[in-house]
Amino acid sequence: MNKAKNILKDIFGYDSFRPLQNEIIQNVINKKDSLVIMPTGGGKSLCYQIPALIFEGLTVVISPLISLMKDQVEQLRQVGVKTALLNSSLSPEDYKINFENVKNKSAKLLYIAPESLLKDEIGSLLKGVILDCITVDEAHCISEWGHDFRKEYRQLGIFRQNFPSAVCIGLTATATPRVQDDIMKNLNMVQPKKFIASFNRENLFLQVEPKRDAFQQTVDFLNEHKNQSGIIYCFSRRQVDELHDDLSSLGFSTKPYHAGMSDEDRNKNQDLFIKDEVQIIIATIAFGMGINKSNVRFVLHHDLPKNIESYYQEIGRSGRDGLRSDCLLLFSYADISKINYFIDQKEDERERLVAKTHLEAMVKYAESEVCRRYPLINYFGEKYHNDFCGMCDNCIAEEKDLVDITVHAQKFLSAIKRTGEKFGANYIIDLLLGEESDRIFHNGHQNLSVYGIGKELDKKQWQKLVHQFVRKEILVRDMEFGSLKLTPKSSDILFNNGKVRGFIKEIKPATKKLKLQFQSEENYDHELFELLRKKRKSIADEKGIPPFVIFSDKTLVQMAAVYPQTENELLSISGIGINKLENYGSIFLTIIKSYCARKNIQLKSSAKVRTGANRQKPKNNSDLRYVLVGKEFNSGKSIDVLAGEFNVKPQRIISHIAHYAFDGNKVRIEGIKEKISLPEKEHQKVFDAFKEDGTTTLSVIFERFNKEISYEDLHLFRIIYLNGNS
Ligand code: ADP
Ligand code: MG
Ligand code: ZN
Repeated sequence: MNKAKNILKDIFGYDSFRPLQNEIIQNVINKKDSLVIMPTGGGKSLCYQIPALIFEGLTVVISPLISLMKDQVEQLRQVGVKTALLNSSLSPEDYKINFENVKNKSAKLLYIAPESLLKDEIGSLLKGVILDCITVDEAHCISEWGHDFRKEYRQLGIFRQNFPSAVCIGLTATATPRVQDDIMKNLNMVQPKKFIASFNRENLFLQVEPKRDAFQQTVDFLNEHKNQSGIIYCFSRRQVDELHDDLSSLGFSTKPYHAGMSDEDRNKNQDLFIKDEVQIIIATIAFGMGINKSNVRFVLHHDLPKNIESYYQEIGRSGRDGLRSDCLLLFSYADISKINYFIDQKEDERERLVAKTHLEAMVKYAESEVCRRYPLINYFGEKYHNDFCGMCDNCIAEEKDLVDITVHAQKFLSAIKRTGEKFGANYIIDLLLGEESDRIFHNGHQNLSVYGIGKELDKKQWQKLVHQFVRKEILVRDMEFGSLKLTPKSSDILFNNGKVRGFIKEIKPATKKLKLQFQSEENYDHELFELLRKKRKSIADEKGIPPFVIFSDKTLVQMAAVYPQTENELLSISGIGINKLENYGSIFLTIIKSYCARKNIQLKSSAKVRTGANRQKPKNNSDLRYVLVGKEFNSGKSIDVLAGEFNVKPQRIISHIAHYAFDGNKVRIEGIKEKISLPEKEHQKVFDAFKEDGTTTLSVIFERFNKEISYEDLHLFRIIYLNGNS
C-alpha cells in the first residue's frame, strides 16, 4: 500500500519508514489490534498517526500527561493535520471549539485524558461519530507491574469494549513481558500482534569516565557542547541545586528540576527548556517523562543511576531526531555506597534484593571494557551481534597492546593489604601517589612502605587499572562500603609469581575528535545553523509553541549543510512536508539565500541536495495546495480571484503556479503575461538568461540583472519559459 508512504513524505516530510513502522501501520489499517514496544525516540507516534489519516473515521489517542498531549497536538497542527484536544487544561471556549471539531467530524485525531473517557458527554460525542481507532500511548501505565501505574488507565478496558469495531493499538517503551501481557489483557485486545523494535539506539554515543573532579568534568563536557540542549541527572535534590548554582554562576544556561520544588516552578523550568530558552536542565530522575523534545543533544549522568532501565530511559531522551547525541556517565565507587545506603532503608527484603541485583548490573555496565552496547542491549533480552559499534568509548579507544601490569598489580594489592582492606580505590591511589592528604596523615599511612611508590602512573591511569583488576577478580569491591578486598587470585600475584596483563594507556575522552559515524551530519555550516535556529526561536515565541515543533534540529542541520535555494530543494529535506513548506519555506529560504550571497557561497544551479539527491517531489497528489491552485488556474480563474479564494497574497498564488509548472505541468499563459510589469521589449533578455543559467535558482537571474527585475516578475517569466513559450 503506497498511501502510507505518500503520507509519510507529503505530510510529515520523511523519506523512509523506521524499522517496523510500516508493518505496524499496515496491521492497524487492517483493523488488527497491535502492541508496539519501541524505545523512546523510535518513532511510535507515526504508527497511529498515519493510520488515523487513512481511516475515514476518528482516532482517539489516550495519553497520561497533559504536557505530552499538548506538544503532540501542536506538532500535528504544524503539519496541517486537524487535531482536537480535550482535557482539563483548556479554557471553556477552547474546550467547546475542540468538542465541536470532533462532533462535526473535521478532526481526524482526538487526544484525550483517560479520566475524561467515561464521561457521559464524551460517550455520546463518540457514539455520534465513527470511531475507527483507539490508541493508548504510554500503555505501560495500565500495568501495576510498570514503573508508572495510573489508576485512570484501568477504565480503558471498559471504554474499549464500548467500541468493539475500533481497532486498538497500545504503545510503550517498557520491555518486560509481564507488562506486555498486562497491557494486552487489560485493554481487551483481540488476538493482538506484538511488535518489538530493537533497543539499540545507534545515534547515541555511550561513554563512561571515572569520576575524578566531577565539577570540572561537567564543565569540560558542557564546553564541548556549547549552545546545545542537554540534561544533567544528579542523585539528590541538594546536588541539583548546588550544581545549578555553580554552573549558572559560570554563565551556563541552566535550571533545576526536582520533586522538592513547587509544581509551578517545575513546570516553568520544563517549559523554558522545551522552548530553548534554557539550554540545560539539571534534574533528579523525576525529569523527562513528559518530554517530547527532539533536539536534546546530550545527557550527562553526574551520578550513577540505580539501574539500567532508568539509565536507558534517561539517555534515551537525547537524540530523538536521530542525530548524534553524547551520553556521558561519571562513575565512582562512592556512588555505589550511596545507592546501597538507600537500598538498605527499604523494609522489604525482596525489594532490597531486587534493587541490589539491578545495581550490580548497572555497575557491570560501567565497568565493561567491551562494546557498551553488549551489556546494555543484552540486558533487555535482545541479542546483539555487532562487535564494533563505533559509537562508544570502548570501541573508539585505540586498540592497545596488552602489557605486563604485574608490578602495578603487586603495588596496588600490597597497599590494600597493608591498610587492612578497609579503603576504597581513591584512597589507595592517593597512598600510592604519595598524596599529602589529611586522611592519610590521620591514619598514619604516610609511614607505610607503599606510600608514594606508584608515582610512575597518574591518577587516571591507576583508576583505569582498578577497573581491570576488578574484572580480572584480582580484587573485589565490597558492594556495601566500596572498600577493596583481596581474593585468592591476589595472593597468587603477591606471593606466587602470578602474572597479569592489561592496558595502561589512558583513554582520552572520546567526544573530542573521534566521530566515526554520523559524521556527515556534523558537516554543516554552524554559522548558518545558528541563524536558522534564532529564526526558529523567534517564530516559536511569536506563536507560543516549542521551537522543535516548527523544525527539528535535524532539519535545520540539513539546511545548513546543503543550502537549499528553492522550495523544491527544501522539500527534499527530511522533516519538511507540504504544510511546513507553505508556512515557513520562504522565511527560511530568504535567510539561506541572503547568507549564501553574503558569504559568496557558490552553488551549482542544478539542485545539489546532497542528503536527498535521490529524492523525488511528491507526484500526482491532487491534495497538494499548489496542484490544486495550478488546476484551478488552468480552468480559467485569474490569479487575483484565486488569491481571494485561498485567502493569500497574489504573490503566493504565483509561486504555487510556478511550482506546478516546475513539476512539468502545462500552464495556461493567458493571465500570466499580463501580470508582468517589465516592458515587453525587454522580455527576451530574461528568457535568454534562463537559457544560459537554468531556471533552478532565480537568485542567479536576479543578480544578473542587478536586482532590477523583481522576483515577482521572474516567477512569471519562469512559468512562461517552462511552458516552452520563449
Ligand atoms: P517515540 O514516541 O517512540 O518516543 P516519536 O514518535 O516522538 O518517538 O518520534 C521521535 C522523533 O523521530 C520525532 O521527531 C519524529 O518526527 C521522528 N521520526 C519518526 N519516524 C520517522 C521517520 N520514519 N523518519 C524520520 N524521522 C522520524
Ligand atoms: Mg511517544
Ligand atoms: Zn561499541
